Amino acid sequence: MSLQYVKGIGPIRAAALKAAGIDSIQKLLYYFPRDYLDRSRITKIKDLPKFVEAGNEVTVIGSVFRVELKRTRQGKKIFFLTLKDNTGYLTCVFFAGWEWLRKTFSSGEVLAVSSVPEFDRLNRVQFIHPEFDRLKVKDEEDDTDWSMLLHTGSIVPKYRSSEELRNVGLDNRGFRRIIKNAVLHHLKEVTEHLPDEMLLKNELIGVQDAIAKIHFPKSYEERDMALRRLKFDELFYFQLLLAYRRRELKGELQGIQFEVKSTLARQLLKSLPFELTKAQRKVIREITDDMQSASPMNRLLQGDVGSGKTIVALFAMLVAVENGFQCALMAPTEILAEQHYSTLKNFLGELPVNIRLLVGGQRKKLHEDIVQDIHRGSAHIVVGTHALLQEHIEFANLGIIVIDEQHRFGVAQRSLLREKGRTNPDVLVMTATPIPRTLALTVYGDLDISIIDELPKDRKPIRTAVRSGRDKEKVFTFLRKEIHHGRQAYIVYPLIEESEKVELKAAVAEFKRLGENYFPDLRLGLLHGRLTSEEKETLMTQFKTRQLDILVTTTVIEVGIDIPNATIMIVENAERFGLSQLHQLRGRVGRSAEQSYCILLTDDLALKKKTQLASDRAEAHREIAAAKKRLATMERTTDGFAIAEVDLELRGPGDYFGTRQSGLPEFKLVDIVHDTALLSLARREAFELVHDDPQLRLPQHQHIRKYFELLFKNFLSYIRVG
Ligand code: ADP
Ligand code: MG
Repeated sequence: MSLQYVKGIGPIRAAALKAAGIDSIQKLLYYFPRDYLDRSRITKIKDLPKFVEAGNEVTVIGSVFRVELKRTRQGKKIFFLTLKDNTGYLTCVFFAGWEWLRKTFSSGEVLAVSSVPEFDRLNRVQFIHPEFDRLKVKDEEDDTDWSMLLHTGSIVPKYRSSEELRNVGLDNRGFRRIIKNAVLHHLKEVTEHLPDEMLLKNELIGVQDAIAKIHFPKSYEERDMALRRLKFDELFYFQLLLAYRRRELKGELQGIQFEVKSTLARQLLKSLPFELTKAQRKVIREITDDMQSASPMNRLLQGDVGSGKTIVALFAMLVAVENGFQCALMAPTEILAEQHYSTLKNFLGELPVNIRLLVGGQRKKLHEDIVQDIHRGSAHIVVGTHALLQEHIEFANLGIIVIDEQHRFGVAQRSLLREKGRTNPDVLVMTATPIPRTLALTVYGDLDISIIDELPKDRKPIRTAVRSGRDKEKVFTFLRKEIHHGRQAYIVYPLIEESEKVELKAAVAEFKRLGENYFPDLRLGLLHGRLTSEEKETLMTQFKTRQLDILVTTTVIEVGIDIPNATIMIVENAERFGLSQLHQLRGRVGRSAEQSYCILLTDDLALKKKTQLASDRAEAHREIAAAKKRLATMERTTDGFAIAEVDLELRGPGDYFGTRQSGLPEFKLVDIVHDTALLSLARREAFELVHDDPQLRLPQHQHIRKYFELLFKNFLSYIRVG
């Protein structure tokens, strides 16, 4: 129904809401509070100094005492807003947006303001760019009784707004009113879509009840009940989508039924310089069992950096080769593809397996030769980059696809490669991103999962230390000592895409400086993304064969590189790297029985400058706190799972998985890190439903079906319901 049926919404507001994506009463009802205000979160002004040290956000309720616009000597305008409550005065400072602010506030109006308190130069507490919530305009008759808030412990919802919405009176307060009206008069138009039985079994409240309570809860228990129900909805429909996707893959497609003969595998096993770990043997069995089944394999192999995934992939590929099929192994970078090629070639030794490497920038004649070899079927294993996806690459009979470091590729690329097979090839994707199992079920919900949960026996935990850039001399002295003991080292510089050129220049200059000032007697190489593949390959070979002592590099070596004699990883400007990146980088060492070290150098000055220059101090503080947490986490643990959890927490799942790439929907309410129990429930219900009533024909499933089709219009090509 049109929004204008709601009291308080006329054509102007309706248009503004529509522009913000809220174009129906349903959507308005599903416009959930971003937060709540309640007595327990409110601080008296006189108590604020106690909270400065803690660095947490606090909320103050007060009336506007004074507004002022001041000019700095440079002519910049700063807006000051002073609030008072019955314990004192608080000044809020705004460096931007003064025009709007000056128009907006008038003395006497009541506001709730939230921020991390800071001291000004005179040691008075101030809020810089606080979030504010207008509770009561002067002389206005009040329907949300903010003063009650302080006395009764009632809970007031806060809504996200925007400049455009505020301009039509839809700030927090405005939203509260129209949503209240919508809840009062239009809730009955929302249909329950889940069957009673499912609600009962999972202790979920009805959808109307949930919507009313998420907006206007009487207590946090009520709010939690509402949240639980609405989160369940988000999870359930997403799992339903996955259930269909999986059903299509498993049930309808005819895959290759390999026969496991193990002749090649046995020969390989005999020639290996090490014994497989128990975990490696377990996952090889899982994979080969899957390859014997009639439906195509779609499996994720998860194992921390250095856990030995490559060899596992080789065993799987050998099964395909023995059955007369070809294999494709795709890696995200040329360096990694080249490494895999030489590693596998090495492992294969005398075995009758023809392995080829296909990357961009190969000589034309060579390229054509490889393409022919692939086309005829005489290339048994083809290792490559996304160059494999090119249209003119045709396999004679592709049996299995292995994708290394899968997080670097999108879902689309996975299916592109799959289409290269005439029959439906098996797919094995590998990743070192160690996410908890329940999470994996959400993100890779249509995949089966194998986990390598142990490292080879001989490994010593890597010692990690965070050091200030000022201690570089000491760090380099240590490095020199290790190199004299026959080890090798990486020194990594950050390279951020937007300013690649500038940064590259810095890396080149630093490389020169290192060579001249610190290590004139050692052999250094500089590796970065701008080199040609041949140059890169030469450098990697030199490093591998110990013709270089130190490889100075950008993050091109981030994933996959395996040079066991390199035992020292030094990361410059480590505060700039993300956690999983640091973990990957550290994973380049600790690949042999030798003790390895990872030293994370930080630039304190850069951090300081950042706070001073930042227009949004709170944001700068948050960033620095996050950087510190990342480094502390690296120092504390080498466990990829623990690191992934912190990373997820810091970055949020959207950024962590790359929502678009992973096919993970943007949940409004669900926090996939913490809502795992509910996720399991929703998953079970969804998979059972698809199993019991795949066409969603039963009358009690009609509403599910409608709702599902509404939510995933764009995805329906994946599935065939009914
Ligand atoms: P990742 O899982 O990070 O891809 P790799 O497959 O590159 O790890 O293996 C890391 C190193 O460990 C390689 O040098 C590999 O040859 C070696 N390796 C693999 N399995 C074992 C094992 N069971 N025992 C000892 N070393 C192993
Ligand atoms: Mg690897």
